[in-house]
Amino acid sequence: MGNDGGTIPSRSEILNFNKRKLDGDSGGGNEVTGKELDLWKILGLYTYCGVSHKRLSKPIVSDYKGNLYNKEAILENLIRMRSTEVSRSGTSPKTNDGKQQKSKLEVKDEADTTIVSTGDSSLSHIRSLKDVVELQIEYSEEKGTIRCPLSGDTFDIRSDKEESVSKLRFYYVVPCGCTFGKEIFDRLMDVEYEKKGISRKRYIEMKCPVCGTVISTRDVIEINPRGAKEMDRLEDRMSELSKLGLTHSLKKLKGKGSKKHRKQDTGDGKVNGKDRHPIKRRKLP
Ligand SMILES: [Zn+2]
Repeated sequence: MGNDGGTIPSRSEILNFNKRKLDGDSGGGNEVTGKELDLWKILGLYTYCGVSHKRLSKPIVSDYKGNLYNKEAILENLIRMRSTEVSRSGTSPKTNDGKQQKSKLEVKDEADTTIVSTGDSSLSHIRSLKDVVELQIEYSEEKGTIRCPLSGDTFDIRSDKEESVSKLRFYYVVPCGCTFGKEIFDRLMDVEYEKKGISRKRYIEMKCPVCGTVISTRDVIEINPRGAKEMDRLEDRMSELSKLGLTHSLKKLKGKGSKKHRKQDTGDGKVNGKDRHPIKRRKLP
């Protein structure tokens, strides 16, 4: 499975991110190995917004795929998408006299379209704030750390040591957005499953260990998931929610959209490959 272009910082961004190392590293030369790049890519996912590529800072939101974004950047993108839709739907002012004015509008339209269709095409699944969840995350931009409220452990998101990067595994839960270390929450889930005598293949309800909200294990989202299996599960989850007329945040889709949705989702209910994600089937700008 390929990565989503928009969420992976480009090589130059990664190099900038680690400019210190490249500029000031004493000895060892400036050779960047493939492994280092991989580690920096992972760090980049915890450090940069997937849409604006600015440093992540609270409020941070996440989509159903576990990507991280600055809420502000998502809002800006939604506004941009909307303005493109408005100008495309023919509601843009038309004047009789001005060919010039019209062409200006066209230029503006083209410019907006470019933004949506190139830079942010990976965001076509975020059509409203319901498609993201705001994280309750102990994220310190200043210190470059994420703290797990369950274990009390602090994770360094700037250290490019392999041992440190490999520990950067987190979950958040929907709808509350509480965020914790993957390892400790996996253990907690094990206990819950054992108590209920149910196999991990099925979903169960339990309480969010931070705020007490009742959640389903279906709605446990791994942040920046590293395995195809988890990515597939998240896609399946989203398909299932769409069929129920729900968004990633578990809020209802707007009536209009969900009707279209269901219509397209009927059939044998089997979804496959790239087309299976229903949100992609929404009308795109
Ligand atoms: Zn919670």
